[in-house]
Amino acid sequence: MKQLKITEIDPYRCIGCTACVQSCFNDVLRMKKGKAVIAYGEDCSQCFSCEVDCPRDAVFFGWVEGNL
Ligand code: SF4
Ligand code: SF4
Repeated sequence: MKQLKITEIDPYRCIGCTACVQSCFNDVLRMKKGKAVIAYGEDCSQCFSCEVDCPRDAVFFGWVEGNL
């Protein structure tokens, strides 16, 4: 079954503000070398808090196959 999950954070758009990391209550995201990265994408519950809080529209979602 396909599920909507966070699939990408554009490193060129990301300015490293950490807002998305702080807004994710599922602890999906991490900071790495000054950029946000997806660490545990399978735990994304499609709440869209990270996308709403990102000032740079750097967060993207996609339909992921499987039991993720
Ligand atoms: S959509 Fe929600 S659960 Fe998924 S990564 Fe963003 S803040 Fe976390
Ligand atoms: S909220 Fe957006 S700009 Fe800020 S760290 Fe996350 S992805 Fe980067």
